[in-house]
Amino acid sequence: MKHWLAWWSVLGLAAAGAAQNGTPVLKPMTVIRAGVLIDGESGTPRRNQVIVIRGNLIAEVSDAASAHIPAGADVIDLSQATVLPGLIDAHTHIFLQGEDPAEGGYDVQLLKQPLAFRAARATVSVRRALEQGFTTLRDMETEGAGYGDVGIKEAIEGGYIPGPRLFVSTRAISTTGGYPLEGYAPEIDVPKGVQIVDGPVEARKAAREQLDHGADWIKVYMTHRSWVGKNGELVSQPTLTVEELRAIVDETHGWGKKVACHSYSGEGMQRALDGGCDSIEHGLVLTDANIAQMLKQGTWLCPTLSVYYYDHAPADTPEGQRDRKRVSAHEESFRKALKAGVKIAFGTDMGGIPWTEPIAQEFPRMVAFGMTPMQAIQSATSKAAELLDMKGKLGVIAPGAYADIAAVSGDPLANVEILSSVRFVMKDGKVFKNEFGQKR
Ligand SMILES: [Zn+2]
Repeated sequence: MKHWLAWWSVLGLAAAGAAQNGTPVLKPMTVIRAGVLIDGESGTPRRNQVIVIRGNLIAEVSDAASAHIPAGADVIDLSQATVLPGLIDAHTHIFLQGEDPAEGGYDVQLLKQPLAFRAARATVSVRRALEQGFTTLRDMETEGAGYGDVGIKEAIEGGYIPGPRLFVSTRAISTTGGYPLEGYAPEIDVPKGVQIVDGPVEARKAAREQLDHGADWIKVYMTHRSWVGKNGELVSQPTLTVEELRAIVDETHGWGKKVACHSYSGEGMQRALDGGCDSIEHGLVLTDANIAQMLKQGTWLCPTLSVYYYDHAPADTPEGQRDRKRVSAHEESFRKALKAGVKIAFGTDMGGIPWTEPIAQEFPRMVAFGMTPMQAIQSATSKAAELLDMKGKLGVIAPGAYADIAAVSGDPLANVEILSSVRFVMKDGKVFKNEFGQKR
């Protein structure tokens, strides 16, 4: 143990800029000239800024007029661009490739596709996210692909494949009768998209297993299915009991990690809040009492609006009526939560949406339902970073933060759809994409 401590302390010194003999360690230095800077935290954009990056960290941000550009630095000219922090999608599924019935829907991915095939496609999902300026994803379970997300994360961190920083949740947890695959003959054992538990002992054990195997978050399904009830309301089936959820939350918090709860409405929503969930995913039906409890407990909402606009069944079928009810209830809940001051983090449910679609489509929906463009941007930068316990390190362009940076042409505060055309991406101090031309 001592040996390792000594080794790491030497590395620590080197990272701080001075090796043991006192010689400064030279790190690559990059300077970005930003025409307009939206820093992720401030509500006001700033013009003509200079961002100095040392290695993988932002060292300095200052007005161009007073900035000192260090000799020998690489200069990236984004003076015609709007520069903002690398974006964060707090709800994705890199192992899922849409649920279009014409392509076999959800089931074929679990029943017919080898894990290696799914992993190969996941490498494309993460590359697409990075290309679109999303430098961090909170991936909300692998949908039957086990601990594959931990492997993809390792491959990205090892530099073998390009991709965003991943916060992974591995297998997710629900109860018997609480997750697909469903509808097969009872004599046949089919795989499930999650780890199934019954009772607080199994629930705690599943959380321990997932945390032990690399989960950064634990994902729990607190509701399953939904339909339109007798009075025209959206109903969903509750899954875990409060006792089961409490066992998971207690265990996960003990590891210093957090619990995200898929939760639509009603009893399951109430249990999610009473059980101490850290973030409510989707939150289609939020009552005033739910919102009051979220505010009191500091619970996050990750709404994922866009995904509910895909694959609607015909309007004259029960499924079609449900699909339309989900959309209308969701809008109402989002507006209420926003107005009440619930903490909202940007999330899309990409994977439920094919990865060929733009991730940034969520921004105009959030704006249409009452957010300002700046609020929507902050939900995908500093707010999402706070959800991830990475405040000051991610989702902000300021000294000490990781150099995760995106840029667009034009003003996203005037037209938030511009965020679908990210033209410059830097992650961890390295340029991944630059359509603005050129280092000089
Ligand atoms: Zn999801």
